[in-house]
Amino acid sequence: MLQYEGSIWRPPSEARSLILQATVGCSHNACIYCVSYKQKKFRVRGAEGIRHDLQQLSSGQKSRVKRVFLADGNALAMTTDEMADTLDVLSDELPRLQRVGTYAYARDVDSKSISELKQLHKKGLGIVYLGLETGDDDLLSWVRKGVSSRENAEACKKIRKACIPLSLTIILGLGGKEHSERHAKATAAALNEIDPEYVGALTLMTPPGTAIHEMVKRGEFRTMSSLEILRELRTIVADLELTSCIFRTNHASNYLPVRGTLNRDKERVLDTIDKVLEKGDLSSLRSSYLRGL
Ligand code: SF4
Repeated sequence: MLQYEGSIWRPPSEARSLILQATVGCSHNACIYCVSYKQKKFRVRGAEGIRHDLQQLSSGQKSRVKRVFLADGNALAMTTDEMADTLDVLSDELPRLQRVGTYAYARDVDSKSISELKQLHKKGLGIVYLGLETGDDDLLSWVRKGVSSRENAEACKKIRKACIPLSLTIILGLGGKEHSERHAKATAAALNEIDPEYVGALTLMTPPGTAIHEMVKRGEFRTMSSLEILRELRTIVADLELTSCIFRTNHASNYLPVRGTLNRDKERVLDTIDKVLEKGDLSSLRSSYLRGL
């Protein structure tokens, strides 16, 4: 039986993956909306930690593993050697392994060359999830993301040049109503420049324990209504010019789940959003209760 340190977070698409903590916590751990790793001090467990975890599994269990997701917040913070050793342990121990995924922070990518990333891809790193959040620099600075939109874009382009599939998240409602248009336009522009394989939109949550929760309590930040969020989503989708990107709003935080390959399905996705907006029909949206707010 695997033992994890603290709560574990993973992308929705890694629901069937074996989750292993190659690192604990997040090396940045400062974003004002993020509660995920607040109680954890960042450290690397690396190949030794993973080997120890895999010893807890039977050979039957190991033979069924096809996908692994390396937690916590940004396992790509490991050095190239640490990551390569970790991937080697996984491929030695898991005979049917097809793909390893990880979260990454732009600075983790910046510290690696394209050839190093290619080497990691060859060893099994099959997808990188990166929180773009917004393409707007003022908002990135306000949420204490610690990187600029340019740094995010350069990191993403490096991952793409290494031929590693890239999945980005953006956060609807991040700028509140006041900055919604700017956030939407800049985010669409950033996505167009990067042209990733996957984009997942989340809706801003403000759970207790986050700095943004305190701002909401003090009246310094007002979260957007479901229809305002939907209008923002519409502005983003309308501006997207992507080659072949699976775009999803299936995360539990969202009001309206939509899915499409963009740009091919752009009109259908816009149509789905427009139908709700035209009717102002809140009954078709997820309730705040179901969103876990
Ligand atoms: S970089 Fe990601 S995991 Fe780390 S604090 Fe920010 S949102 Fe949370």
